[in-house]
Amino acid sequence: MELIKDGKRLDGRKPDELRPIKIEAGPLHRADGSCYLEWGGNKIIAAVYGPKEAIPRHIQNPTRAVINAKYNMASFSVGDRKRPGPDRRSREISKITSEALENVILTEMFPRAMIDVNIEVLDADAGTRCAGITAAAVALADAGIPMEDIPVACAAGKVGDTVVLDLMGEEDQEGQADVPLAIAPRTENILLLQMDGHLTVEEFDRALELAMNGCQQIATMQREALMKKYQSFEED
Ligand code: UDP
Repeated sequence: MELIKDGKRLDGRKPDELRPIKIEAGPLHRADGSCYLEWGGNKIIAAVYGPKEAIPRHIQNPTRAVINAKYNMASFSVGDRKRPGPDRRSREISKITSEALENVILTEMFPRAMIDVNIEVLDADAGTRCAGITAAAVALADAGIPMEDIPVACAAGKVGDTVVLDLMGEEDQEGQADVPLAIAPRTENILLLQMDGHLTVEEFDRALELAMNGCQQIATMQREALMKKYQSFEED
């Protein structure tokens, strides 16, 4: 499959262009904080519960809160029905998401507590770990969890010998590399960096530059989504 033709990608995007993104803060009423995110063909719900007493007690940390992120793909979210329940991939994504979020949440304010972050992928089209972290960050802010910054994530990669921003499904499957990145956007501190495939050092630098830039664009959208919810409260 020809992934790049006349400088345009399968969905008509330029190499440095993001897919369309829509973010809504606080769609769920029972959760302490929530977010609904559409990002290209991805649809994701994030729900935050806590801080609350960590249970079972042996997981409690006397100096800080435990962040418990759980990433789950609905069985209907992918082409071939996915077997419900956790698998190696979802455990890995839950772990890296917990670790990325732990580095910006002021966990030492809540000793012995836990903060549950549920990420449900309803529809998947590549880049769901980045979309999950981005949605979780908005849900955490919506829950009023104190953080150094609102984390954000975006991937870049290589398709048809070109370094591109934000791979969609076919590009992820047929492409040459995928580099998911999560950052704290104010400092550009890296919270997550993975690489699947092969890149030269120059290509890697370019992918990182594109992904950083993508993250900054999405960070603006996250803030707009939160402002939209909380401004409407002020007006009431
Ligand atoms: N995917 C799938 N079935 C699975 C896991 C993944 O069809 O069991 C698809 C899905 O669209 C996902 C993409 O493959 O978004 C890429 O998966 P990857 O593991 O690279 O993670 P992601 O890019 O979603 O963070």
